[in-house]
Amino acid sequence: MPRQVVLATHNEHKVHELQQILGGAGLDLEVLTMSAFPEVADVAETEVSFAGNATLKSSAVAAATGLPALADDSGLSVDVLGGSPGIFSARWSGRHGGAELSRAEKDARNLQLLLDQLADVPDAHRGGAFRCAAALVAPGQEPVVVEGRLEGVIGRVPEGENGFGYDPVFLPEGQERTLAQHSDEEKNAISHRGRAFRAMVPHLRALV
Ligand code: IMP
Repeated sequence: MPRQVVLATHNEHKVHELQQILGGAGLDLEVLTMSAFPEVADVAETEVSFAGNATLKSSAVAAATGLPALADDSGLSVDVLGGSPGIFSARWSGRHGGAELSRAEKDARNLQLLLDQLADVPDAHRGGAFRCAAALVAPGQEPVVVEGRLEGVIGRVPEGENGFGYDPVFLPEGQERTLAQHSDEEKNAISHRGRAFRAMVPHLRALV
């Protein structure tokens, strides 16, 4: 029977991306999602770094399920905003409790706020990067944390239908298409999450 690992995220877009990224790695792993563990609640992201929050999420899920757990914490760091939204990317326009707003509505509000904040910033100063920390916690073992990033520029108008979050306004370095105008495969090949999780593959292989 293949070794099991749990993806410690409730974000369906991330689950989809992570399954594609890990699926391409040829690992003999059964990847479970949080839908297999409805009793395990979301973990509050109380740490102040991507690595800290990724470790927090995977540790909590490993402890609750008794299985190795893999989590990511990710976000957009904009140079002119001193690295913000950063770890606050998912909550940039406010906390929006519970089920009041869908993830898509929250994403749209966060993106609009960022565009408004950058409205007067000239093109030469709209640089930023998507960042991702991935953490693997196997019960009884030290956490393994790896990171990935994708440099780019924040556009002025949302374009494209793919992806999620800030994808419609993020132009990867040297490109004229936003990440939301990339196919899943194209995004995974260059994305912060793709890079972090490919760096995690040897550690997952060691687990198997
Ligand atoms: P997390 O679920 O706490 O890691 O928050 C991630 C947030 O960062 C998301 O809600 C998005 O706002 C943003 N983000 C992270 N990765 C991406 C991506 O690949 N595309 C667009 N936005 C992203």
